[in-house]
Amino acid sequence: MLLHRNIMSILSDRINNLSESATLKMTKLGRELAAKGVNVISLSVGEPDFNTPEHVKEAAKKALDDNFTRYSPVPGYPDLRQAIVNKLKQENNLDYDISQIVVSTGAKQSLSNVILTLINPGDEVIIPTPYWVSYSEMVTLAEGKSVFIDASIESDFKITPEQLEAAITPKSKLFMFSSPNNPTGTVYSKDELAALAKVFEKHPNIFILSDEIYEHINFVDQHESIAQFESIKDRVIIVNGFSKAFAMTGWRLGYIAASKEIAAANDKLQGQTTSGTCSIAQRAGIVAYEQGLDTVNEMKKAFARRRQLVYDLLKDIPGVKTNLPEGAFYFFPEVSSFFGKKDADGNVIKGSGDLALYLLNVGHVATVGGDSFGNDNYIRLSYAASDESLVEALRRIKEALGKLS
Ligand code: PMP
Ligand code: GLU
Repeated sequence: MLLHRNIMSILSDRINNLSESATLKMTKLGRELAAKGVNVISLSVGEPDFNTPEHVKEAAKKALDDNFTRYSPVPGYPDLRQAIVNKLKQENNLDYDISQIVVSTGAKQSLSNVILTLINPGDEVIIPTPYWVSYSEMVTLAEGKSVFIDASIESDFKITPEQLEAAITPKSKLFMFSSPNNPTGTVYSKDELAALAKVFEKHPNIFILSDEIYEHINFVDQHESIAQFESIKDRVIIVNGFSKAFAMTGWRLGYIAASKEIAAANDKLQGQTTSGTCSIAQRAGIVAYEQGLDTVNEMKKAFARRRQLVYDLLKDIPGVKTNLPEGAFYFFPEVSSFFGKKDADGNVIKGSGDLALYLLNVGHVATVGGDSFGNDNYIRLSYAASDESLVEALRRIKEALGKLS
């Protein structure tokens, strides 16, 4: 019987060394508390609170009726890959052909595929902090080593070319980042990306994984991709998907755009693991891309309004320091002034994980501790929630934080 043995001794080192996803864990805890009848406001998981656009849903229904119900080609249907190529040209002015596109079961799988296809044990992966929770854990799974570059609120969570240069060693194999960023909302400008690209020009063995899943939720400018710099383009792997732009988180549809060779390697890996992603989701994805960005732009308007709302409310909480994020739908406020304080039962808040649990259990607001994003001084709030929920959540957070002594 498994239960009679120490489960850790049974499981692989690979899984024993892996942390649970903090975003998903906090969301699960929030759901569990809500199931007990507590009115919990969830600002933990990052997903649009909108429904998938009608025309996309209709396309999925039609796909079923048209019997798109069998295995698809491993890298995706050719016409979906062509729609992605067209999107990259029209929206980003980037040239790819369909042999460079591999469709996957979400951007998350694409990230994992890329890391597994490039990283040998001991290879270094350079990751600016704060980073999205799963980056470093995916590197651990591939037996690579994460090398972090710290960026804080003072630099608007951006790294400099000098910091990048200093992090590079002969073992550096991959640099991975997201812009707009999860969890900070930071957006790199074209000039800032050009300065990073100049550093990569000097280091031809380093690949660049550019996670652009939030490209359409950008409040400052048009989206800029680091793949636009021809001198490094063949080493850039763009990861993108449909989850955020089309409120399609549950459909599981993402992709990479990369050199032919890297795309072929991802295709091979996927062929031995998951095969082509859901046929129905893929047919719907074609329609999402072909019918343009009207629905995304509507969502963006709501996010812009809520960003201002949350910014004003956060600034009003003593001890909380925040910047105004330029993209995505997160705030990543500095909360270290609460560390060392005690709750009503005398428990000390030792770090951001404790603070997130305190806010959940006492304030009934689910957030995520910054420790899981590589910086313990912060917590992450998703503002993909209704205006009323946000006002109430921020009221509760302020009240709960005010009770710490
Ligand atoms: N990258 C970032 C930065 C994310 O926040 C997420 C979460 N949605 C993903 C990738 C994964 O997206 P998907 O739902 O397409 O797997
Ligand atoms: N990307 C979202 C987040 O950061 C979804 C949850 C996840 O996949 O981790 O909350």
